[in-house]
Amino acid sequence: MAISRQNESEFGIPRSLVDDTSDGYYAVKLTSDATDWTFLRVSRPKYGEYKDCVKIQTQHGEQLRLACVLRPDGIFEVRNGDIKRAVIMMVSDRTRAMARYGREIGHCCRCGKQLTNEPWISYGIGIECDKSMPEIREAAIEEAEAESLVAASTCESENGM
Ligand SMILES: [Zn+2]
Repeated sequence: MAISRQNESEFGIPRSLVDDTSDGYYAVKLTSDATDWTFLRVSRPKYGEYKDCVKIQTQHGEQLRLACVLRPDGIFEVRNGDIKRAVIMMVSDRTRAMARYGREIGHCCRCGKQLTNEPWISYGIGIECDKSMPEIREAAIEEAEAESLVAASTCESENGM
C-alpha cells in the first residue's frame, strides 16, 4: 500500500500520546466480538531506516506487519488506513491493553518472551519485566476481579437471587 504522510491533526492522534507509549505489545478490540483482537507491537529501533522513530506493527501469529511509523519530525507515515482506530484504543488504555496482550498470547507484553507459569501468565507480564512495569500486574488483577464480580452477579441472577 502507498504510504500516506500525515501530521498529528491529519492523523487525529496527538503525537505526544504515541511518544508516551512504551515499547511492548498491546491487544485492543475494534468490535464487540469477544475473540476479535488486534495485536500491536510498539518499538523504537536504534538502527536502520526507522532509527529514532516509533514503529507500530500489527501482529498476525508469528508475523509482524508495519502499519504506521511516527517520525522524529512528528510526521505519521501510515501504511494501513485501518490502524488509526487501533492506535486510538491503544493509547487511551495502554496499561490494560498490554496486560490483555500477555494474557491472550501467553507472552510477556513488555519483552515478548513466552510466559511459562502462573500467576504471570494471567498477569500478562514476566517476573523480570514486572520490576520495571508493576502497573501491568495491578491492571490485570483489577480486571480479573471485575470479571469475577460480573460472573458472580450473573450466577446470582440465574439463581433468582
Ligand atoms: Zn518480559
